[in-house]
Amino acid sequence: MSVDLNVALSERARQVLPGGHLSPSRKLGQPYAFVRAEGAYLYDANGQRYTDYHCGFGAHVLGHGIASIRDRVFEVSQRIDLIGAGIIDLEVEAAEALVRLIPCAEQVAFCNSGSEATYHALRLARAVTGAQRIIKFQGGYHGWHDYVAMNGQSAAEKLDDYDPMSDGILFDAARHTVILPYNDADAVEHYLKANPGQVAAIIVEPIAHNMGAVAATREFLQALRLLSSEHGVILIFDEVITGFRHALGGYQALIGVTPDLATFGKAASSGYPVGFVAGRRDLLERVGRSGERGVFMGGTFNGTPSTLAAVLATIDALSQQGVYERLFALGDYLRSQLDGIIERLGIEAQSAGFGSVWLLYFFSGPYRQYRDLLANDDELDLALRRRLIEQRQIFQPLQLKRLYLSASHTREIVDDTLGLIEDNLRSLRR
Ligand code: PMP
Repeated sequence: MSVDLNVALSERARQVLPGGHLSPSRKLGQPYAFVRAEGAYLYDANGQRYTDYHCGFGAHVLGHGIASIRDRVFEVSQRIDLIGAGIIDLEVEAAEALVRLIPCAEQVAFCNSGSEATYHALRLARAVTGAQRIIKFQGGYHGWHDYVAMNGQSAAEKLDDYDPMSDGILFDAARHTVILPYNDADAVEHYLKANPGQVAAIIVEPIAHNMGAVAATREFLQALRLLSSEHGVILIFDEVITGFRHALGGYQALIGVTPDLATFGKAASSGYPVGFVAGRRDLLERVGRSGERGVFMGGTFNGTPSTLAAVLATIDALSQQGVYERLFALGDYLRSQLDGIIERLGIEAQSAGFGSVWLLYFFSGPYRQYRDLLANDDELDLALRRRLIEQRQIFQPLQLKRLYLSASHTREIVDDTLGLIEDNLRSLRR
């Protein structure tokens, strides 16, 4: 009998990695061990092929193993590695490119992940305003640190309470985070009026992809812009998912509302560890000032050459004509086909998403905030995802989680998956 190399690697992993994975959110419910990735496909240790709708938590907007990214990183690594003193040519080039592309960006500060970016943006907002509290919205996710690791998706009864995502969070840090419902400008106005001078920042996903795909209305974002300015609060768009995925300038370039600061990561570097804070010069300059009135933004690996090479190559690739048009067209095609399946099967569901982010919601009503998603048939959602994973379609195995397409996905690839979705739903529906 031949050895199953996925099982063998998973057993070794269980000995040396906590829970056998880097984090519980990586568990697929199957012992899959991947050894190669190319385009829209992953390959496991047994040589089996999978279609990838996870795309590295969204980092891959182009697809895996893109030659132009790999070559640029390789070329740069031939001449320079981590320096950590002075500046390097690549960070100037990358920052100049980002300042050209992102509406709010007058300056850019590099770090290594989305969580680091939101951490630094919030610290900066506290420094410039002198206020302690921040406003975050129920269902939003902004990273793993103690300022924001709460009230992602919660049980219904906890909706308005502090709901930590982890044991061990410093409550004294977390209690300064105020949780309000998404798309509810009145709630924000009410809070700001009742607590003058207390709020440093509002942090918001301009499309709440951590709830799947709940779009902020333009009116909501415009109201946040006005209220922030009126009350001396720093408005932060968390574009860690939307940035580069929907437009090179972030969602702010599409919706026409400009925040004070914005955080980026994921798709900005096609799979290399990156984060950055972009924003107003007068704010970011506080990071550059040392001493009493400066804001400390350390990090040995900030601005690593290979990452910056990947950022520059990603910008070049996404600047090619037609890339976003193709991503949006494929997303729209997928959603329209999903709606056809729903209609044919007569199930209570709807396609959702924006551009290359997609999912099915298993309820039929409108939605504008987390509370509305409680109508989702989680059981059916999870059952479908489990079946698809068994059929070698890489989906996040959690209800309401967004899925991604990349520029390497094609109609043919998507059609195969749609066939599986229809067959599975036909047998799962009740
Ligand atoms: N902000 C948003 C909107 C995110 O979706 C994420 C990650 N899913 C983060 C911040 C944190 O980014 P990272 O995982 O790179 O720390």
